[in-house]
Amino acid sequence: MTSSTVIADLRSDTLTQPSPDMREVMMSAQTGDDVYGEDPTVHELEQYVAGLLGHEAGLFCPTGSMSNWLGVRSHVAPGAEVVCDDLAHIVRAELGSHGAFAGVTTRTWPAHIADTPVGQIQPDVISDLTTPKAGPYLVSTAAISVENTHNFGGGTIQPLDALRQVSTFAHENNVALHMDGARLWNACAATGHSLAEYAALCDTVSVCLSKGLGAPVGSLLVGSQHIIDEARVWRKRAGGGMRQIGMLAAAGRYAIDNHRVDLFRDHRNAVKLATAIAEAAPHALDPATVETNIVAANVANPVEIVELAATRGVRASALGKTTVRFVTYRDLTDEAIAHATSVLSDIFACAVALP
Ligand SMILES: *Cc1c(COP(=O)(O)O)cnc(C)c1O
Repeated sequence: MTSSTVIADLRSDTLTQPSPDMREVMMSAQTGDDVYGEDPTVHELEQYVAGLLGHEAGLFCPTGSMSNWLGVRSHVAPGAEVVCDDLAHIVRAELGSHGAFAGVTTRTWPAHIADTPVGQIQPDVISDLTTPKAGPYLVSTAAISVENTHNFGGGTIQPLDALRQVSTFAHENNVALHMDGARLWNACAATGHSLAEYAALCDTVSVCLSKGLGAPVGSLLVGSQHIIDEARVWRKRAGGGMRQIGMLAAAGRYAIDNHRVDLFRDHRNAVKLATAIAEAAPHALDPATVETNIVAANVANPVEIVELAATRGVRASALGKTTVRFVTYRDLTDEAIAHATSVLSDIFACAVALP
């Protein structure tokens, strides 16, 4: 299939294209050498996002993977551990960077816990796994990392009261709390809570501008001034010192100011897709579990589903052995969503094998 026949590409919200107005703003952005600390547009964005999240300082990073890595490594000395769930992006999709470049070890709690949405945290499961000050024989836990929304869990939102409990437990035990908030914007759009309400519970938070918000590149790490100063050094050490990136920061700021509102539509479109799939194959998913812009269907033949959908102009991702994932985002037209809804409804009615 050539890309010209693709009608709805639902593989990821990273496929968003910079909008025409965003490109204009990038063209006229003020720039300077950011390694010298002289790019005013980057400064502004870092302060703005830190402010939105209620933290002292922020650092613009090329990717969410780097931003997560900088956050986690700021808490975890080589040989110590971060605990997270077994579907977390930091342990599944960052290619082992935390171990490879910072000596961080990990243990995981299960993302699948009976009767709760996949990826949703359970405070007692986390506290049971966490071993702060484990002594000279066992690995000590230095940080807990939670993902909000949870990507491979299907866009699951972390409940604020559960996060509060984890935060209290962590801080009573001198363990840091990092949040992989790549899609924290989506959690806020869905719940009405502010970014700061979530972020205030954490020591560091990483947010992405390059997912549903539609910036071409960029993530930010926020935390205390001390952590961010140190992260700036480590970013450069890792080869992530960038020069006239005001053009990228301007795109990010534009995305925050103008595209956050589009997330509501993304969420509605995800429910449309999920409803059509569930009508055709009720066991593949429960539309009530679709909280944001990600639809994860449970099937025994994800690769076949993806291939079949592709022949009819709908692209999706096969994740693991039993998940096919569809992600909505601002560039998908109403026609594309309608087409995808009808194609997926056909395919799930006749071709899906259930695990
Ligand atoms: C996309 C994503 C990231 C960051 O990914 P990059 O491709 O490195 O920017 C981190 N966490 C989650 C949950 C993500 O979905």
